[in-house]
Amino acid sequence: ALVVVTGANGFIGQHCVASLLSHGYSVIGTVRSDSKVKQVLATHEKHPNLSVVVVENICSPESYTSALKSTSPAAIFHLAAPFHYDATDFENEMMIPAVRGSTAVLDAAKQLGTVKRVVYASSFASIYDASKGPQPEKTYTAEDWSPLSYEDGVKASAAPVAYRASKVAGERAAWQWMEENPGVGFGLVSLNPAMVFGPLLPGAMPASLCELNTSNKIIWGVVSAGEDNEVPLTKGPVWVSVKDVALAHTQALQVPEASGQRFLLAAGVYCNQEIADLAREVATKHKSRIPVGRPGAREADMHFAVDATETEKVLNIEWQSLRSVLGEVLPQLYEIERKT
Ligand code: NDP
Repeated sequence: ALVVVTGANGFIGQHCVASLLSHGYSVIGTVRSDSKVKQVLATHEKHPNLSVVVVENICSPESYTSALKSTSPAAIFHLAAPFHYDATDFENEMMIPAVRGSTAVLDAAKQLGTVKRVVYASSFASIYDASKGPQPEKTYTAEDWSPLSYEDGVKASAAPVAYRASKVAGERAAWQWMEENPGVGFGLVSLNPAMVFGPLLPGAMPASLCELNTSNKIIWGVVSAGEDNEVPLTKGPVWVSVKDVALAHTQALQVPEASGQRFLLAAGVYCNQEIADLAREVATKHKSRIPVGRPGAREADMHFAVDATETEKVLNIEWQSLRSVLGEVLPQLYEIERKT
């Protein structure tokens, strides 16, 4: 079967493409420029089952239908959406691409007529309520919804708030579209990953650490802080491995009862001290870069917990450990730094 992956050059997108190809699917990746077409083809060593097209405007259904004409995809993974904290015009840079991006891909799926499932990359940001603070008594599941509104995003006090609001509004728009289009012939699955950590594919290494994806920048912030310095404060205390996120996308296609559901993708809680402790063990060569801090100190009791057992059961995922993920990504980060 043929699957379309939007944002195929992105951090998670590249792993979704790899997961689909390794499970025997054919893939059409969408990107927004010709140079990224070449880059994605190279990342997957010109895999015979991969093609890549340019979709200039993710807010336009026609942009998709003209790029995909004469193809018959059975599914779409929608990952293309802004994830950065650099925006200043929150409505135009964050909210509109998230919301109109959602409805455009669903409109396009309807017009194509062959799509049976759309897997939507939402976020833990659409689940948890940051305004409530640490909430040590709370356990979040996929049943929870962040209260942030579209307006909260437009008028946000800071870019991370606008990002979180964009994820809520984007996912709400997708579910609302499904309600307004009964009998459309495909089901929607929302996947809501926590902070995603993990390696980049060999062909997709950024030229410099400034271009590193937003979530892996958290790891770099810790492991480059310097042995005698403080461990940076933990911001989003829940994480998941990028390979598990990609596998969850593929499973969401294959498991019939996933349709119409929302899944929290979370290996568990973490803190930056834990990253530092593990990093000092797995990247011994670079110990002088990694803060000692207070070895063994953990923050799990100080804030909310997460429960993703439903995801483990329905999507059949066993979460990769933080130690193993750090073992894969740390050598890459130090290597990118060495080369620049
Ligand atoms: P990346 O920044 O690596 O990838 C984002 C992708 O979306 C890129 O292909 C990017 O294209 C594309 N994109 C962004 N803005 C636009 C736009 N305005 N128009 C067209 N394309 C656009 O991020 P991730 O891979 O980490 O994120 C992928 C998805 O997963 C996002 O929806 C994100 O919100 C979600 N997510 C990520 C988490 C994480 O921790 N990484 C956690 C939870 C959810 P280009 O390269 O051209 O900019």
